[in-house]
Amino acid sequence: MPKVYGAVIDSQTRCMHYASPLDVIAIKFKCCGKYYPCYRCHEEAEDHPVERWKEQEWDEKAILCGVCKHELTIREYMAAGHCPQCGAPFNPGCANHYHLYFETKPNCGWK
Ligand SMILES: [Zn+2]
Ligand SMILES: [Zn+2]
Ligand SMILES: [Zn+2]
Repeated sequence: MPKVYGAVIDSQTRCMHYASPLDVIAIKFKCCGKYYPCYRCHEEAEDHPVERWKEQEWDEKAILCGVCKHELTIREYMAAGHCPQCGAPFNPGCANHYHLYFETKPNCGWK
């Protein structure tokens, strides 16, 4: 599985900032190509600003399911509220933070 950086506290990619039962994904940041559990982890570990994914880049694998370690494309992640491989539900509250990771606000089917 890809390495997940930042303040990770368990094997399902929960971190110091977001550790609810549904917080099981890590996001690959376009700026450095590293997986972090959240933008705050990125902010604390890196000294550059976040570069956000553009809509035409949504076919990149940039989401890691912390439960089964399956990598999803951004488009797959947007399309379903759960992991297509293991069925783990994702946190719908993350939709409030999309603007931190993605340039275009997705029309998210599972909000
Ligand atoms: Zn970065
Ligand atoms: Zn974090
Ligand atoms: Zn999974």
